[in-house]
Amino acid sequence: MDYNNLDNFSQIARDHAENPRNYGALGVFDSHARITGPCGDSMDFWLAVRNGQVERASFVTDGCGPSLASGSMATSLARGKYVGDVMRIGQRDIFDALGGLPPGAEHCPLLASNTLKAACENYLGIPPRSPEDKTKDESLGNPGHATLGRKPKESGEQFEEQQKLQSRLCRIRHKVVVLSGKGGVGKSTVAVNLATSLAIAGNRVGLLDVDIHGPSVPTMLGLEQERVVGNEDALFPVVLEGLKVMSLGFLLASQDDAVIWRGPKKMGVIKQFLSDVEWGDLDYLIIDSPPGTGDEPLSVCQLIGNLDGAVVVTTPQKVAAVDVRKSITFCRKLELPIIGLVENMNGFTCPKCGEVTQILSSGGGRQMAKDMGVTFLGAIPIDPRIAEAGDKGKAFVQHFAATPTAKLMQDIIQPIMALDESAPRKNSSQATI
Ligand code: ADP
Repeated sequence: MDYNNLDNFSQIARDHAENPRNYGALGVFDSHARITGPCGDSMDFWLAVRNGQVERASFVTDGCGPSLASGSMATSLARGKYVGDVMRIGQRDIFDALGGLPPGAEHCPLLASNTLKAACENYLGIPPRSPEDKTKDESLGNPGHATLGRKPKESGEQFEEQQKLQSRLCRIRHKVVVLSGKGGVGKSTVAVNLATSLAIAGNRVGLLDVDIHGPSVPTMLGLEQERVVGNEDALFPVVLEGLKVMSLGFLLASQDDAVIWRGPKKMGVIKQFLSDVEWGDLDYLIIDSPPGTGDEPLSVCQLIGNLDGAVVVTTPQKVAAVDVRKSITFCRKLELPIIGLVENMNGFTCPKCGEVTQILSSGGGRQMAKDMGVTFLGAIPIDPRIAEAGDKGKAFVQHFAATPTAKLMQDIIQPIMALDESAPRKNSSQATI
């Protein structure tokens, strides 16, 4: 497709490609981000923010027509909106506002929306300006530019690392994190089986295990002996029947290694790990987060950014409600959409006769979800075959596919599959980021 030939463009897209709005760097800006997409095109966004609203947004790109149109539309959509709302401007919004783009160019609005979001994140990383700054700025006649000439908070190295991370992650259409208020509730089991179900459904899927306390994904998928291949720039995931898997466990000589890491060292390892993994193009990345609602899951969610949402895993007892409430508050503080709640270990399914016996109190998860205004995704019973599959290194949904429990697990992916309906469909012959 010759993207310089604008005949195939809608009238709006052609207008924005021929006369891009807001083109060129801002002289005075509060944040900046650059991402290079897998197609090799780069985009830069600059934002000037006043009272939390984007006062000016500008961009440059070395890409051709669709990139120009997408950057131009993204900056037009951003203007005047609150930063939190700008972060929600997605590929679909830009694509629709342009009245569509020629087939195969869908990655351009995605590159624009990801770069715009990265610029918002860069802005949010800047500490609030001091009253002295404000006075100084106003005396210069620039009350709007709170951070006149201010450079991003990060050091050059950190900024580059964040850009590297974003340029890798921008090739992933949907990122979903699996959270739990505490360990041992089946978070990794849910993550492994969600990722496998999505892969079986024909998606390109990655599974990222950042549970630094006990990376159990390698055991659950029979990959304990695997060591990742890498070069000085990147680590490459292990591929298991089409599913790309990366676990901190692959990098540890023994699990005790992680336990002795403290605060900053632990965060440094997580950060470097996230930015080094080269996933390629994916439809979904499922992230098995560290448990709880402390610094570790917080860092993971913030570093990855642009998450589509969280699946929260809990057990049915009433005491679990406290943990679920904490997880939900955690998501709301991060403005992370909650895809829903999964109740694991609800009743015991006898593998011989299929009869379900309640062991822990039942129905708590559904009620919790209702009380907290989140979607209830489903209940998974205690099924000895789940533990057996995990111990033998086989994904339960695949190796016990015919069981009612596997069907329940497969149903849980439906709202995650629906995420794709809100994004432009990919062109079958084109790689889409
Ligand atoms: P977490 O990631 O929350 O620490 P895991 O997913 O590692 O929890 O699960 C802990 C253990 O419980 C694993 O051995 C797993 O196989 C087992 N398990 C999880 N869910 C079930 C279930 N529904 N039925 C039987 N065993 C389960």
